[in-house]
Amino acid sequence: MMKRRVAILGSTGSIGVQTLDVIGQHPQLFETELLTANNNWELLAAQAKRYNPNSVVICNREHYASLSKALENEPIKVFAGIDSAVELLKGAEIDIVVAAMVGFSGLRPTIEAIKSKKAVALANKETLVAAGAIVTRLARENNVPILPVDSEHSAIFQSLQGEKAEVEKLILTASGGPFRNADKESILNATKEQALNHPNWSMGEKVTIDSATMMNKGLEMIEACWLFQMPAERIEIVVHPQSIIHSMVQFSDGSVKAQMGVPDMRIPIQYALSYPYRIALDAERVDFPKIGHFTFYAPDREKFPALDLAFHAHKRGGNMACIMNGANEAAVNAFLQGKIRFGQIPKIIESCMKSCSYIKEPSPDDIFSTHEEAMRRAQDYFN
Ligand code: MG
Repeated sequence: MMKRRVAILGSTGSIGVQTLDVIGQHPQLFETELLTANNNWELLAAQAKRYNPNSVVICNREHYASLSKALENEPIKVFAGIDSAVELLKGAEIDIVVAAMVGFSGLRPTIEAIKSKKAVALANKETLVAAGAIVTRLARENNVPILPVDSEHSAIFQSLQGEKAEVEKLILTASGGPFRNADKESILNATKEQALNHPNWSMGEKVTIDSATMMNKGLEMIEACWLFQMPAERIEIVVHPQSIIHSMVQFSDGSVKAQMGVPDMRIPIQYALSYPYRIALDAERVDFPKIGHFTFYAPDREKFPALDLAFHAHKRGGNMACIMNGANEAAVNAFLQGKIRFGQIPKIIESCMKSCSYIKEPSPDDIFSTHEEAMRRAQDYFN
């Protein structure tokens, strides 16, 4: 495979850090071209020194002076502001853009990456939840691949390789999160520490809270619908607490293919970067005798109402999933700041889905204003 030049949007987050680990394991295959971060200029500076990108962007301009100073003796261009990141993405020196920003903020740079015809390794599921129709249409028009980084979607993508077959359904596996065995009452009053204590995966705070409410699986269901052009009725969510099977595809002959591995995000990240090649990775291997058994069960939709909200939002279409996503982002932030109880998260989302203005065929501008409206309406519940 030819050496690939990589841009990472959100290099200091969990996915960004693990992407750099993958790149560091294959210096002959990958080269870092551009790194961006929101606030963590210290880590961005350290990454820049180690991986030597052409340019770095700190989105929060307040940290520009500190970052410039830290890199003054390096041959690295330093910029500030999301607009600079968008401009740099248009440059020709990038083969693949890893979209690893958190939440809705990833939408605009992802759209710009697609418009400038760069392959996108998509870790930012909110992009497809908020604007799936727009983003997938743009990708088609620009002939740009969207390579899934989310472990479930990578598993489906891997299971589909080489198949000329009719897909009957996609089976999305879920760990069940930290509250899979908790009763309804204790979930309602769960603390931040409990909610952040994910049993299998080590991830950023937003996705960890989303896993605890199971909204994460709802977002992933919508993501899968767009990525694989599949109606929601043909996506099944199955709880698999061991998190070894990362998702499955059922074909029209009844065969089911699964992709397995230890829960390590570097595996799907690397597959997106190296696709269609599969290359070596220095990571843990699955120890089947040690795991002993796999279990599966249907999710409890009463304990985790976020799942039904997501199915409803996707079915309604238009900007409804964008409303849900915006309200969720605001509610998760409020929970992390101690402003609301855990059990209020799905309730706030549900009432925003009822009160925000519905648009059947939203334009990109409508998507941005819908997100603003959903965040604002959600904030009415805790400010
Ligand atoms: Mg996932």
